[in-house]
Amino acid sequence: MAGTEIERLIGLLARLPGLGPRSARRAALHLLERREGLLDPLAASLKEAAASVRRCSVCGNLDATDPCAICADPGRDQGLLCVVEDVAGLWAMERTRLFKGRYHVLGGVLSALDGVGPDDLGIDRLLARARAPGMREVILATGATVDGQTTAHYIAERLAGGGAAVSALAQGVPMGGELDFLDDGTIGAALAARRPLA
Ligand SMILES: [Zn+2]
Repeated sequence: MAGTEIERLIGLLARLPGLGPRSARRAALHLLERREGLLDPLAASLKEAAASVRRCSVCGNLDATDPCAICADPGRDQGLLCVVEDVAGLWAMERTRLFKGRYHVLGGVLSALDGVGPDDLGIDRLLARARAPGMREVILATGATVDGQTTAHYIAERLAGGGAAVSALAQGVPMGGELDFLDDGTIGAALAARRPLA
C-alpha cells in the first residue's frame, strides 16, 4: 500500500479531466519513477503557473500578463471580436492560425437549467466591447450545444442594429460539438463559412 503522500498525489491526479482512479495511479507511479526527468520539472512548472498565470481583465484569457499577449498584440485586428465559451475554445481557434482578431471568453453559457443568466457571464462587458468604435464584426463561436446556440442568439439580439456585423461559425461544427474537440481543419472551414446572425 502507498503512503499518505502518494495517496494524496493519486487523489489529486484523479480529479484531472480524463483521469480516473486507475489512470491516476499509473500517472503517479510514472511521475515518481522519473523524478529528475518529469516529477521535479512538473512540480516547478505547476508552482510557476500557479504564481504567475492570471485571467486577462480585458478578454478573460489565461496568461502570465494582464492584458494577455493576444490583447496586447498591436498586430491583432481590433475590429474583429471572436466570442468563445471558454479558454479551451480560444486555444482551439488559435490552433487554426486563421483568426487574426481578438477574443472575448464568456466563461460559460446561458443555461436556464443551471441558473446561469447574462449577469453571471458578464454579458454587459462583452456588449461594451462589441459596441466600441471601430468594431466591424463580432463572430460568435460558442459550441453547437443547445445552450451554446441560445447564448449566441441572445448576444446577437442584444447587438442587433449596432455598428458591428454579427456572425456565427458555419454548421461544419457538429451539433453538440465543443470547439476543443474539433480538428483544426473543421474549425477553419466553419470560420471561413461563417454566416450572418443578426
Ligand atoms: Zn486578453
